[in-house]
Amino acid sequence: MRAARVWRSLLGVEHTVVEGVDLEPDRDGEVLVARVRPSRSRAGLCGRCGCRCPGYDAGAGRRRWRGLDVGTTRVYLEADAPRVCCAEHGVTGAAVPWARHGSRFTAGFEDTCAWLACSTALSVLSVLLRVSWRSVAAIVVRVVAEAAGRRDRLAGLRRIGIDEISYRKGQRYLLAVVDHDTGRLVWAAKGRNAATLRGFFDALGPERSSQLTHVSADGAEWIHRVVAERAPHAVTCLDAFHVVAWATAALDAVRRGMWNQLRGAGQTTEATALKGTRWALLKNPSNQTGSQRSSVASIAKLNAPLYRAYLLKEQLRAVFETKGQRGHQLLAGWLSWARRCRLPEFVDLARTITRFLPLIRNTLDHGLSNARSEATNTHLRLLTRRAYGYHSPNALIAMAGLTRGGLCPNLPGRS
Ligand SMILES: [Zn+2]
Repeated sequence: MRAARVWRSLLGVEHTVVEGVDLEPDRDGEVLVARVRPSRSRAGLCGRCGCRCPGYDAGAGRRRWRGLDVGTTRVYLEADAPRVCCAEHGVTGAAVPWARHGSRFTAGFEDTCAWLACSTALSVLSVLLRVSWRSVAAIVVRVVAEAAGRRDRLAGLRRIGIDEISYRKGQRYLLAVVDHDTGRLVWAAKGRNAATLRGFFDALGPERSSQLTHVSADGAEWIHRVVAERAPHAVTCLDAFHVVAWATAALDAVRRGMWNQLRGAGQTTEATALKGTRWALLKNPSNQTGSQRSSVASIAKLNAPLYRAYLLKEQLRAVFETKGQRGHQLLAGWLSWARRCRLPEFVDLARTITRFLPLIRNTLDHGLSNARSEATNTHLRLLTRRAYGYHSPNALIAMAGLTRGGLCPNLPGRS
């Protein structure tokens, strides 16, 4: 009796009878196999809804679930896996109190895995828990689905940011919605078109859509069109980090144009020197290293047009840092400078910004926290780069819900 209680505690299971424990030889030495069954109150329940229902058959017989290691030894729980016949779900596996439906891992193992996926490098996780990438992705999807089902992530939204994020090459995109007030990712789906975004507003419903006060996005016309249709009272803004990214791209195009010119003219030394300045020019001054600063200083001396492009980018960034009335004045000054700067890339940018002026004015007036939505955006991009192991966008969306959506579980045995 006492030993059974000790094993229940070590295995981290509840509502479970431990019938016996044995060591078995295995490829890495030995594994611990605990023979278990659900306690009477937890037997004969539908695996999908938890309703009590009549038994159907013995299923595929005995099954094993991987549990958390005990000390240094790998652990499996072994039990019968009968099927039941649910009035709503038909014939399905009976629920077991130690694992999620359809999983080959215990819930404690999955929660630990999801917590680690949220907190550490996946390479560390897979060595520590001895699981494959593919298993991690499937576990994260299950854990997030359960956590999302328990919580209404769309409740109380007022100010949101809508963002398109490319994952993998070949024009594959996710549409992500971030709450500006909490910085959390509240919704994401595959695709980037009006239908994808309407899916978000359908989930939100007309009443809650009408409570949105601010919506920020990039310059995509279809986003603004759907927002105007579904949340007509919301003030629409352009996310500042997109505008700054346009300026950064224009600067890079200026630099590349000059590099090509130098190379074409046979000035290879100058071309190579210019190529080395790329990161120095694109970084914010506060993040530049000493040598990057001196590289910008030498551009100031030797290459007036490129330095002008650099200043235009930095000045535009300052507009959004300043915001408010002073931000409007700086922006007006920036536009008149950019229009006559004789750098075609920035003349074009001035034209684009003029086109979006009403939305940019809203951004300066309402000062949505750009830092938060940019941080979430940067994080999601990082995740997509790390995500070569995810075979489906669903795994990526689940991972984002874990790290940015507030859906990360507690470690088992802790509150
Ligand atoms: Zn059911």
